Amino acid sequence: MSEVRIRPRQVLILIIVFIIVLMMVHRNGKRTCQGPEYLQAMYAQDQINTLPKIYAITPTYARPAQKAELTRLSHLFMLVPNLHWIIVEDANTTSSLVRSLLDRSGLVDRSTQLNIKTPPEFKLQGKDPNWIKPRGVEQRNLALSWLRAHVDVERHAIVFFMDDDNSYAVELFAEMSKIKPGRVGIWPVGLVGGLMVERPLLNADNTQVVGFNAAWRPERPFPIDMAAFAISMDLFISFPQAIFSYEVQRGYQESEILRHLTTRDKLQPLANNCRDVLVWHTRTEKTKLNAEEALQRKGQRSDDGIEV
Ligand code: UDP
Ligand code: MN
Repeated sequence: MSEVRIRPRQVLILIIVFIIVLMMVHRNGKRTCQGPEYLQAMYAQDQINTLPKIYAITPTYARPAQKAELTRLSHLFMLVPNLHWIIVEDANTTSSLVRSLLDRSGLVDRSTQLNIKTPPEFKLQGKDPNWIKPRGVEQRNLALSWLRAHVDVERHAIVFFMDDDNSYAVELFAEMSKIKPGRVGIWPVGLVGGLMVERPLLNADNTQVVGFNAAWRPERPFPIDMAAFAISMDLFISFPQAIFSYEVQRGYQESEILRHLTTRDKLQPLANNCRDVLVWHTRTEKTKLNAEEALQRKGQRSDDGIEV
């Protein structure tokens, strides 16, 4: 039996060919998408520039699960090429945690990091919910003034208020890209308001919203969650008075912003005639840290020098 001898030179050539193939696959991977149809459409080279830019506004605050929540969102955004993330920290300064997260996920060029602290008199410590006033008001308003000052008003864009702890499907962003200038797009939200799904009710030909199935405060002008809609940017330019307000009751922030911008009959139903659930109002359980607190009383900590 003759022995097959592999010479070092052949090994070297094989390695080089392997590296070249790997590089080609990697380069192609950046430009094309093998995923489902909605993703392929979003990634098609000629379409990226024609799609409206989606500005996602996320208020966020420091707590044990913050990095976990923001990591989930950043991975979602890696799949959405036409998105710009405005992340507004509820803090006196921006943090290195958020900055390095944006860095590592390659989102630096597609994001804006802002900060503004909610005045302490608006928080009632030690109670659950520990708020006397709505959350994220200050942060969303700062993002809106940044947008009004920085966007190219000639280009169609979409604004979406995106809390850091909800769960979002990538398809939601494909749907949002269909919002027409001057319109507010609307869709169902899962696991909210005491229901499996809160959703708009449409007319017979599915062109107009005629009501809502909300069980919690159905008398609100827009009885929907913040995750249920996105807004064409031109409306924020046309109606500069549209901002969030502390002066409204809990649950009325959505109605407060929308009343300036649209009416029920002008809402644009999306997500398969409001029958698909593409976002869920999930809430992360408060992290239990009793053992950590015991450690810290002894002057130690499990995360010494480690960002969790
Ligand atoms: N938030 C904030 N500061 C706070 C509490 C909340 O910036 O002190 C942010 C939070 O990170 C989230 C949004 O405001 O993006 C809504 O808060 P939360 O998810 O707690 O509200 P809920 O789910 O109860 O509506
Ligand atoms: Mn939430």
